[in-house]
Amino acid sequence: MKIPQVNKLTQSPFEYELAENNNVSATTRNENKRSREIDKVNRLRQEDAEGDDTEEGIKNERVEKQDDKLFNDNVAKEAEWFRGDDESQVVPIDIGNVESSEDSDIDNEDDLKSCEGSDGENDVKNFPIFNTVEYYDPTFELDMIFSNRDEIRQAIHSQAIKTKRNLKITKNDNVRMYAKCADMECGWKFHALKLTGKCTYQIRQYEPNHTCGMSFRIKNLKSSWLSRKYANKIRSDPKRNVKGFQVDIMEDLRCRVSDYQAYRAKSQAIELVEGQVNSQYALLWDFANEIKRTNPGSTIIVGIEEANCDNRFDRLYMCLYASKVGFLSGCRHFIGVDGCHLKGPHGGVLLTAVGVDPNNSNFPIAFAIVNNKTGETWGWFLSLLKLDLNIEKDYEWTFMSDKQKGLVQAINEVFPSADHRFCVRHLHENFKRAGFRGQAFKIALWNCAMATTVNEFGRRMEILKELDKSAVE
Ligand SMILES: [Zn+2]
Repeated sequence: MKIPQVNKLTQSPFEYELAENNNVSATTRNENKRSREIDKVNRLRQEDAEGDDTEEGIKNERVEKQDDKLFNDNVAKEAEWFRGDDESQVVPIDIGNVESSEDSDIDNEDDLKSCEGSDGENDVKNFPIFNTVEYYDPTFELDMIFSNRDEIRQAIHSQAIKTKRNLKITKNDNVRMYAKCADMECGWKFHALKLTGKCTYQIRQYEPNHTCGMSFRIKNLKSSWLSRKYANKIRSDPKRNVKGFQVDIMEDLRCRVSDYQAYRAKSQAIELVEGQVNSQYALLWDFANEIKRTNPGSTIIVGIEEANCDNRFDRLYMCLYASKVGFLSGCRHFIGVDGCHLKGPHGGVLLTAVGVDPNNSNFPIAFAIVNNKTGETWGWFLSLLKLDLNIEKDYEWTFMSDKQKGLVQAINEVFPSADHRFCVRHLHENFKRAGFRGQAFKIALWNCAMATTVNEFGRRMEILKELDKSAVE
């Protein structure tokens, strides 16, 4: 029902009529409550009038006295009153049976109205407000204010976990949130109602004591709750396994969770920390435009799958202008290329090209993300790199890589005259895999690689041959 706003100085006969027509049956207690309210309003008026001795003040006082008479004569004694933000505004509202918080369950519509209508902003300030810092360790008290329904719901779950009791939310709609203990015999009860015109809720009934026993299987312990609580822990230690996570929960909360629940909580926490991977992929186009806007001269290419028409991500190539210019102006004509597999739900491969700067440190040039390491993807990456670095005389350049088939072929195709050397670290990996393990083989191999003349290389290869004939082959 829409409540008419009535100013006491300009109260029209219509509103008096409206107030008179409120045909209300009231209990003795409610009458007392109303008369207290009316007394309070009158007292406030008196105070206002006392402080005003000027001619205008006296005039106002006379008008107010007349007004009070009209008020007392015409307004039904049964009407409920409350003060709004402005003290000069008093609003009668249509009510049924008024039940205070001490009464039993408030279940019908009229009861709700009475609870909704009796609060103003001034009152809210005096009530305890739920502190979100205590989100995982809540302490409820009567009249406590909550910002919204979700806050109450989460606080009830936290309360259940804190007290090791299963709590049930029995009513949850636009105006109320009721909860009780899952044990039917137990007296724990929580009733919160929404305040009029606000999204805030207030505890109207609260019975904090349980008569039931504790339980270590808490149904209120949901994976979403766990994921929020442990998000920071997962952020600092993302490799913590599910078993370890379960142990953490057991130690902290003294509650049991199933393997699956712990697994779900962990993945949700990772999602919270990293953001949803899918939505991040959807932002790639914006990212590309932003790179072009903020780094003019950079190359960024986002490729989509040709077979599908639904803009599915396929590959990305990026070379920043600063890297390009820096590499060409200060680094040797040497490029190292390598690829590595990406972890995460969608996998993929990261292809990189790095140079060596005058301090013998790595200098990143460009990178690409593709589905897999094949001759085609390497070819695509290297052709773009060739365009970006404007490589025409490829015989001036040296490439270093491991011995991947696709890569070796791609380098030969894109840079046919360039020198191509293999990375000794990768060679050593293959060397070890072939059965030549141990420090002696490693040192001998590196010595060969570090030889600066053909003769020296030949001598060092002889040493390697002495260790094992087949190693040289
Ligand atoms: Zn209980």
